[in-house]
Amino acid sequence: METQKTFDVTGMRCASCVAVITKKLSVMPGVTACDVNIATERAVVEFDPSKVTVDVMNETLSPLGYVLRESLSDLKSDTVKVADATKDMKKEALEKARGNMLFSFPLSLLVFALMMWEAVARIFPSVPPVPLPMETLTIFLFLVSTAVLFWIGSPFVRAIGTFVRHGVATMNTLIGIGTTTAYVSSSIIVFFPEIRDFFFLSSDTYFDVTIVVIGFIVLGKYLEMKSKLKTGDAIEKLLHLQAKSALIEKDGTAVEMSLEDVRPGDFVVVRPAETIAVDGILIRGTSSVDESMITGESIPVLKQSGDIVRAGTLNTTGSFTFRATKVGSETLLSRIIQMVEAAEGSKAPVQALVDRISGVFVPSVLVISVVTLAAWIFFGTPVLGFSQALSLGILSFVGVLVIACPCALGLATPTAIMVGVGKGAEEGILVKNASALEKLHTVDTIVLDKTGTLTMGKPEVSSFQNFSQKSDHDILSLLASLESTSEHPIASAIVEYAKRKSIPLRDVNTFEAIPGKGIKGMIGNELYIAGNEALLESHGIDLQSISNARNAHYEVSTHVFLASEGVVLAVLSVSDQLKPGATEAVRTLTKQGLRVILLSGDHERVARDIAEQSGITEVIAHALPEDKVREVKQLQAAGRVVAFVGDGINDAPALATADIGIAMANGTDAAIESADVAILHGRLEKIAKAIHLSRFTVSGIRQNLFWAFIYNSIGIPIAAGLFYPVFGWTLSPVFAGLAMSLSSVSVVLNSLRLKTKKL
Ligand code: ADP
Ligand code: MG
Repeated sequence: METQKTFDVTGMRCASCVAVITKKLSVMPGVTACDVNIATERAVVEFDPSKVTVDVMNETLSPLGYVLRESLSDLKSDTVKVADATKDMKKEALEKARGNMLFSFPLSLLVFALMMWEAVARIFPSVPPVPLPMETLTIFLFLVSTAVLFWIGSPFVRAIGTFVRHGVATMNTLIGIGTTTAYVSSSIIVFFPEIRDFFFLSSDTYFDVTIVVIGFIVLGKYLEMKSKLKTGDAIEKLLHLQAKSALIEKDGTAVEMSLEDVRPGDFVVVRPAETIAVDGILIRGTSSVDESMITGESIPVLKQSGDIVRAGTLNTTGSFTFRATKVGSETLLSRIIQMVEAAEGSKAPVQALVDRISGVFVPSVLVISVVTLAAWIFFGTPVLGFSQALSLGILSFVGVLVIACPCALGLATPTAIMVGVGKGAEEGILVKNASALEKLHTVDTIVLDKTGTLTMGKPEVSSFQNFSQKSDHDILSLLASLESTSEHPIASAIVEYAKRKSIPLRDVNTFEAIPGKGIKGMIGNELYIAGNEALLESHGIDLQSISNARNAHYEVSTHVFLASEGVVLAVLSVSDQLKPGATEAVRTLTKQGLRVILLSGDHERVARDIAEQSGITEVIAHALPEDKVREVKQLQAAGRVVAFVGDGINDAPALATADIGIAMANGTDAAIESADVAILHGRLEKIAKAIHLSRFTVSGIRQNLFWAFIYNSIGIPIAAGLFYPVFGWTLSPVFAGLAMSLSSVSVVLNSLRLKTKKL
């Protein structure tokens, strides 16, 4: 039996580590799939626990410097705590990076200043030389570079060992070989003058290269980690919504309890301005609740007895008591956090390509750097003499190794995705994964369901007509009982109507929902059906018998017929209202060049009326769930990229068929999981916002990839000295280190810039 586990991975530095870990894990017997993410520093591994264990995986990985630890989020405990702990771990790593940076960066600056001074003094004779004897300076640089390389730079030095023993090369290997080469060759020149003279080497040393390159890289890494934490801000904001404790009613008094001790069924007391601690159903009192933090909807919602309240939302001025229904990792807030986390860690399709490129990048760079060194000696010696050619060759060798790190490349996609997903979540737009976010902007056709999507989804009973011998009371009881087994908004309206009239419900046996038509079930010994005309037809009921009723109720509402034994007993009309803002939302979508289609299971005249009100011109009515799927498929066959927008309860097949399924959650939890994108408050204008979000996230990814590639593709030939023969250009490894750090930092900053975009 295969299981899937998420691991926190320590020791990852860049995209090449992703390639290494993926390669090592996926060839292990028993491992079937493996997905490593640099932005979240996690690995999702699918494996057969009877064939391979985590310890075995670590046996392979730890010599390479990586350790897998079972992610806390897999232990199914309190989501909020887990996310907090992960965050703490990352902050700890950031503290360490800060310490490294504070040690090495000032030293780098000092050395850099000395270098600059020396260079300036060489060009302008009027500038006095560095007032230190050459020997003192060299010994100083030697000591500093020893400390920097073997303490701060120890991961880089260790990476060389890993490379030699296991043949695995990552970004650390490149930096390690580069800085160690500079250090070792300089040490030889200083301490072994015989060797120096034997090879006719000049007495120039490159200790400064080791110090400054490591200094810049450590600084770059620190800034990158710091900004990376910020790209994941959305989760932190959600985490802070969580209340710490709850007031629980116990034997008539309210007792303060910590969150873990709250159980479903507990009565929770909420006072004015308090955050609601867990999910539940209001039983006493009324109040307005600000749900904006979860749904993005800014107007407080009035909550009365029977309404659902959510953990993390804020009570305004009233007081009330509710019965806890969902606690811990089951609350909507927890599930949103889990989803956002999973989405932020998921990989965009372009990422696969980027990972492949990064994987071959490191070995290629190693080859290029060796070729560079050889070319300098071979072509340089006749012109410059061996000593100078070797000297420039070593500098170029180091420069190529340092500048070519695929660090920025690895950050380009995941950081933009993290920002995009987080930004969506803040607006109540939950995007399930990176590929959905990437694909969304290609959508050109929006197919909208009617009930609950364009309309409020809270139909009201507008008329009732009884054709039978039974009393209205009995008929309504039968109908409402039957509907109480259904989740359809129409069903809820009817049950609500009966409740208000204090009509008791009866037991229903062997009931069954008939998608797109209605419902059937046994009450007592009789089989009843309730639903639309199509349902009656499919049960062979003559519609003629009720044609009068239809005429009488020829209005823009949906009819629900109750029938038994081939006879129509009653008809009830429900009407639903267009959502506020629907017309504007449709107009925005049309203006953006999108084709908007209304696809409804309801009667033609109802669908047309709603379409007209909202400004939609294309209408397809009488569509059963399978018809909806067929329509979507037809549009796709005609080359359209289709987003289907539904309520997620009875539209699951169409949501799954469409290129992008968008669920209008409207407070039903089921919808959140069933689609690629869930819109929490069911606001239609969020569709256009979601598309906009996708558009600028994708363009952010493209910019990032461009910046990452441009640094490497321009940097490598310059560092190699390819332009030296023509323009006399060389690139000091010091600047290579600076450029490399800058490229990562600029990519992460560009992703952060997306945060400031208005949706
Ligand atoms: P839409 O969301 O476009 O209204 P649905 O597939 O949800 O489409 O429903 C189609 C039609 O089926 C409804 O308009 C209604 O007439 C009928 N129907 C579905 N479920 C029920 C039910 N539980 N009770 C009564 N009628 C129902
Ligand atoms: Mg529907």
